[in-house]
Amino acid sequence: MGPHYPFSLPPLPYGEGDLLPEIDEKTLHFHHDKHFAAYVDNLNKLLATCPACQDWTLEQLCMDWCRLPEDIRQGVRNNAGGVYNHTLYFQGMTPNPGEGRDAALTAAVERDLGGMAALKSAMKTAALGVFGSGWAWLVCDRDGTLSVRKTANQDTPLPLCPLLTCDVWEHAYYLQYQNRRADYFEAWWRRINWPMVSRLYGQCQDTRPRYPQD
Ligand code: MN
Repeated sequence: MGPHYPFSLPPLPYGEGDLLPEIDEKTLHFHHDKHFAAYVDNLNKLLATCPACQDWTLEQLCMDWCRLPEDIRQGVRNNAGGVYNHTLYFQGMTPNPGEGRDAALTAAVERDLGGMAALKSAMKTAALGVFGSGWAWLVCDRDGTLSVRKTANQDTPLPLCPLLTCDVWEHAYYLQYQNRRADYFEAWWRRINWPMVSRLYGQCQDTRPRYPQD
């Protein structure tokens, strides 16, 4: 993905059948090639009408949408968030989960959340607690402290530094799991790309998103 307009659809980082049996091909196909692609297309269409917005980064659009022209504000909020959130979501799963948590992440999870079992429980509570459509998150704050959050619709937790996210929009699981969001969460948990989470945690220590008011 480029740093600003025009944004492009990041390729799925694995094959559509590579997350079986947890996430099936049809689900990944529609989710990535249709839903995610639509957020990219819609964001570009909105920004095409606003030359002054075209050098904004995706993170800026997600955080500062309220400073955009009124007629595109809500659309950019929804679609920039959709692009940001789905980018992390698809990167956050892997065909080869293994273990892959480094010592720094493991220690931080223990210190801030009480261990991996407690992290999973908190993420599950967040995922099941989203009413309607939204996201469950593991984030890192400016002090390096981890916490679990949820956001509605396509809102992001920025400027907190996102490490991992579970999409709990029905389009993420309905073809395979129908109304069984808890079963989908358990399947997603087994596919987490822990090396990515560890890498992002390391990066967040140094290059956390900066926000003007900080
Ligand atoms: Mn989605």
